[in-house]
Amino acid sequence: MSMIKQETKVLKNYINGEWVEPIATNSIDVPNPATGEVIAKVPISNTEDVEKAVAAAKEAFKEWRHVPVPKRARILYKYHYLLTEHHEELAKLVVAENGKAYKEAYGEVQRGIECVEFAAGAPTLMMGETLSNIAEEIDSEMFRYPHGVVGGIAPFNFPMMVPLWMFPLAIACGNTFILKPSERTPMLANRLAELFTEAGAPRGVLNVVHGAHDVVNGLLDHEDVKAISFVGSQPVAKYVYSRAAANGKRVQALSGAKNHHIVMPDADLKKAAGNIISSAFGSAGQRCMACSAVVVVGDGDEFVKELKKQADNLIVGNGMDDEVLLTPVIRESQKEKLLNYIESGLEEGAKLICDGRKGTDDLKEGYFMGPTIFDHVKPEMTVAKEEMFGPILSLLRAETLDEGLEFIRKSRYGNGATIYTKDAKAVRQFREEADAGMLGINVGVPATMAFFPFSGWKDSFYGDLHVNGKDGVNFYTRKKMITSRFDY
Ligand code: NAD
Repeated sequence: MSMIKQETKVLKNYINGEWVEPIATNSIDVPNPATGEVIAKVPISNTEDVEKAVAAAKEAFKEWRHVPVPKRARILYKYHYLLTEHHEELAKLVVAENGKAYKEAYGEVQRGIECVEFAAGAPTLMMGETLSNIAEEIDSEMFRYPHGVVGGIAPFNFPMMVPLWMFPLAIACGNTFILKPSERTPMLANRLAELFTEAGAPRGVLNVVHGAHDVVNGLLDHEDVKAISFVGSQPVAKYVYSRAAANGKRVQALSGAKNHHIVMPDADLKKAAGNIISSAFGSAGQRCMACSAVVVVGDGDEFVKELKKQADNLIVGNGMDDEVLLTPVIRESQKEKLLNYIESGLEEGAKLICDGRKGTDDLKEGYFMGPTIFDHVKPEMTVAKEEMFGPILSLLRAETLDEGLEFIRKSRYGNGATIYTKDAKAVRQFREEADAGMLGINVGVPATMAFFPFSGWKDSFYGDLHVNGKDGVNFYTRKKMITSRFDY
């Protein structure tokens, strides 16, 4: 039987409740990172496509802002139900377009669902404040109102969770939304939009415009887009923050990271090594909360031996295989970048104790690398300073906790940091002095849940109000103060 090769679909944009062909005609391939197989094509939309989406979202806002908050929340309850019902399907889609392990993808979907859960609390979250008698016979009240059209720009590494950090809460607060998914992982966004419509969202409330720089710039420059949520790499985060803020928009821009884990001499070495292995090499190190630098305090040779043993034993492969921990990186170009980082580590004198360039010969189709570990890395080396975003781990040696904390202070990034110890005094010192926004005590990935802010510091975040939690509500609403006199 002859097989006719199906033509790979070019994804459509979702504007005003309809699937529409972008005005721009060019598109790029979306390969499955584990197999190299092209699974979709993503259109590279232009500013005219953005214009259409903004017009739809602006029109939808006129009614959506007046929909009673409990009614808005009910759509989110339904959405929560639908996402839960499709949990496995969504996780498989994450694996197909991002490459991470199914277990990780399943967890990511769960994290996304929790954001919807949080946003469904909008009636309570959006409550204002009142104070009677601020002066004689005078009362004050604060009400929250949405901004209007909000733009969200997402990275490739969490195609489910990051968009769900953004649009459910923004929309629950009464805004309408335009999502620009990563062009490297665009498929899930369309499924999220489909299910949102099935949950009862009116047309134009959530729109999806696929593409790259032009769509981003279109959103940053459009006067009808009032706020921007961005998550991505550091240079782009800073650019987005500066350009959108210069245009008078409210912006939150979550950025890159270099997360340090401090291993104290009293730590349970086996458990600490296990946590570090899954933090550094799970999702191929492509998590903004991944451990990418370990500070080994004291004579850490025994710990390093244990870490190497566990790294040597981890299984590299396709994320759909149960036992696999280390999955492919997102693109061949990213793999090349990482290979250059390994070269730079060697040139600058770090000691390579696990060489990820080897051991993946039978995985030629996808973008695979083994685990790489450098020991005796100095803080001024490139592999100590830069976010490499892949399965490369740098070990720095320190005499004391003070010295370890100094490495964290000197890093330009401050997303997360962890300490492994049983010593309460060390824990307290770490909590008080570690210069980062999300700390772990014996926890490998101290990412916060939907009801707390995702709280990076320094160059890991540009803006004021973070995503999620009360910060998220404050970000997506503006306050109106009423001062009333009654003796008139
Ligand atoms: P990226 O910066 O390449 O892309 C993010 C988004 O910006 C994409 O939608 C992309 O189309 C757009 N973009 C890229 N270059 C642009 C440009 N020059 N002008 C305008 N728009 C542009 O990021 P990525 O590689 O997709 O994601 C990985 C990065 O995201 C890592 O640095 C990671 O640390 C970071 N990240 C941070 C957090 C956090 O919470 N701090 C969470 C997830 C990911």
